[in-house]
Amino acid sequence: MHIATQVRLDTYNTFGVLCQADRLVRVSQINELDGLRHANIFAAPHLILGGGSNVLFRSRFEGTVILNRLEGKQVVGSLGSNHIIVQFGAGERWHECVKWCIDQGFGGIENLALIPGTAGAAPLQNIGAYGVEIKDVFHSLDAYEKSTGQIHVFERESCAFGYRESVFKGSLRNRFLITAVRLMLTSGQHQLRLDYGDIQRVLAQENVAHPTIAHVAKAVESIRREKLPDPAYLGNAGSFFKNPIVAKGLADKLLQTNPTMPVYESGHDGGLRKLAAGWLIEQCGWKGKRVGQVGVHDRQALVIVNYGGATGEEIWALAQQVQASVRQRFGILLEPEVNIL
Ligand SMILES: Cc1cc2nc3c(=O)[nH]c(=O)nc-3n(C[C@H](O)[C@H](O)[C@H](O)COP(=O)(O)OP(=O)(O)OC[C@H]3O[C@@H](n4cnc5c(N)ncnc54)[C@H](O)[C@@H]3O)c2cc1C
Repeated sequence: MHIATQVRLDTYNTFGVLCQADRLVRVSQINELDGLRHANIFAAPHLILGGGSNVLFRSRFEGTVILNRLEGKQVVGSLGSNHIIVQFGAGERWHECVKWCIDQGFGGIENLALIPGTAGAAPLQNIGAYGVEIKDVFHSLDAYEKSTGQIHVFERESCAFGYRESVFKGSLRNRFLITAVRLMLTSGQHQLRLDYGDIQRVLAQENVAHPTIAHVAKAVESIRREKLPDPAYLGNAGSFFKNPIVAKGLADKLLQTNPTMPVYESGHDGGLRKLAAGWLIEQCGWKGKRVGQVGVHDRQALVIVNYGGATGEEIWALAQQVQASVRQRFGILLEPEVNIL
């Protein structure tokens, strides 16, 4: 196992923030985790990093970055005649997993195409897009307990999934390194979700009358390419803030003064409503605004971008200004979706 020292992190975070870590180690075998444990790496400051697409380094990372590169994609079981269980090594790139499933004819994650990052980080924030969250197809995961070296299996119920939330961001924060993720997918008779966003419009444009999972993934990819900046060209971490969940009473009150404000049901709780953070930010005049090398994207106000050379502190400063104006105008505190380090 090679531990590099004084490592630049700009290529390891999609914001492209230039900063350094004291040490960096790449893990591609589970038994290497025991080596790290015995070297007391987990007892000192450290960070598990997948694709770095949901982190903002505000400054130098004084500790060890552990790059998760555990690989593997395989079918590990079946349930009845129409469901299979697939397992991905946590370091596999999520979009490659989606493509692999589509090639194999496995349905359920086609709406989650083109989300950057690794399979292991996906359950951590219960990734979601176009009407589907990973929890909808989640079977179980394996996680390495850093203090004991034991592998624990977490079934869906024990993950406490919520909107961009799981137990690994809550009560079990920083205790485990997710090593493998299993999903239960359909091997036929796929239940397509077409009712969200522009999927149907794109399918109609392409003259697709009987969509397959591959058509849906392709439609989602083209919508995402239209709307979201590609981190390969413009540094960003996707949605910087979560969509706020508020009491129905507050949503109704805001609607009186902002009749065009989008309001959505929030899960099964009739007393709560989800608001669109991007809309709130846009109303405060931030869409397309640039401050130095940092800006709010001109097509999606929820995305903060690095035009090149911005520091983590500069990005965070702009995010805080956005947060302050939304709070002042609407009385709502936007919570970052990105992990601020
Ligand atoms: C252009 C763009 C679009 C995006 N669109 C979406 C979207 O549509 N929906 C959505 O939900 N998200 C979206 N995201 C956010 C991001 O892609 C996801 O959150 C993704 O799951 C992060 O994966 P990662 O491997 O890059 O995680 P990282 O950024 O590397 O890590 C994120 C957090 O997870 C922890 N972590 C990572 N791997 C592990 C592990 N194996 N075990 C334990 N902890 C771990 C890290 O310590 C860190 O706290 C988008 C990001 C970008 C840049």
